[in-house]
Amino acid sequence: MVEKEREERAYKTIIKTIKDAPLEEFYTSGHRTCQGCESALLMRFLAKSAGPRTIVIGATGCMYVANTTYYTTSWVVPWVHTQLGGSGAAALGTAAALKALMRKGKIKQEPINVIAFCGDLGCADMGLSGVSNAMTYDYNLLIILYDNESSANTDIQETSMTPYGAQTTFSRPGKVRRIMKRRWKKSVVPMIIAGHRTIKYAATMNPAYPLDGLNKIRKALEIGGPTFIHSLDPCPKGWDYDPQFSHELGVLAVETGIWPLYEYIEGKIVYDEPTKSIVEGRTKRKPVREFLEKQGRFSHFTEEDVEYFQRMVDEMYEDWEIPGVMPIKSLNVKIDDN
Ligand code: SF4
Repeated sequence: MVEKEREERAYKTIIKTIKDAPLEEFYTSGHRTCQGCESALLMRFLAKSAGPRTIVIGATGCMYVANTTYYTTSWVVPWVHTQLGGSGAAALGTAAALKALMRKGKIKQEPINVIAFCGDLGCADMGLSGVSNAMTYDYNLLIILYDNESSANTDIQETSMTPYGAQTTFSRPGKVRRIMKRRWKKSVVPMIIAGHRTIKYAATMNPAYPLDGLNKIRKALEIGGPTFIHSLDPCPKGWDYDPQFSHELGVLAVETGIWPLYEYIEGKIVYDEPTKSIVEGRTKRKPVREFLEKQGRFSHFTEEDVEYFQRMVDEMYEDWEIPGVMPIKSLNVKIDDN
């Protein structure tokens, strides 16, 4: 499809207000996710946004275990389970099979969405090579990383997405070492866009911003794959807070600058509100303390830890080449005339 035509089509599918969102649900009630689970909300958005002509592929993780318990499922669209690290390969295989079947005239020629979702362990750790492989072929597929910042379904183990210092069953603060998770969280969208130059669309989202999320899923599917979305999903069980605060924590992650909302569209970074206002200097970031102190997983933090966290987030906006996105800075050495 010609670039312009594709852009126009993507624009036309934008949902202007939440009232215009489709009423039909293809991920329905009856699942067994925890109360306040934002990943369940993400599943609802992806099914709603994509519509009935969709095949969903789910890697092992919370959204597999809780949504497809022995002979029951809340998926109304076709759903395939794949192993923990297999979402990239399964998405690629499904998209390729559909293309071949259509080419051979065995099934009707029509757009069928292929969406694979995987949690942080299945996508950013174990499954990363498969996801990367899927991003290198010309197939229409979307991979969504639902990031609850731990391996939650097997009782909250640390992953590369666990934030600095957070308590998990693998990173309990000890007497000798209070901060067990010392490395900063991995940035997956920048890895995808920097490593796969011809990818046309990648984005971050957060279920606390439903319209933004619904539209990003739409755009990814319309622009055509391979495409990638990383969603930060507050998880009451792993983050240790009362489920009623899920939405508030999602908003705080963005307003403190910890989780910037942006899209990579055809080679350009586009910031979405409220991140756009933060980057353009119209809105001041809230202190990270407001996000951290609402979660039990950071309850062992001292003043020094909060300050370190704040400093790291400040750096994302003040020192990075692309604020909040790319942790690099060009060294434009000025040549002194003297
Ligand atoms: S553990 Fe977290 S991600 Fe898993 S179902 Fe519960 S709230 Fe959702």
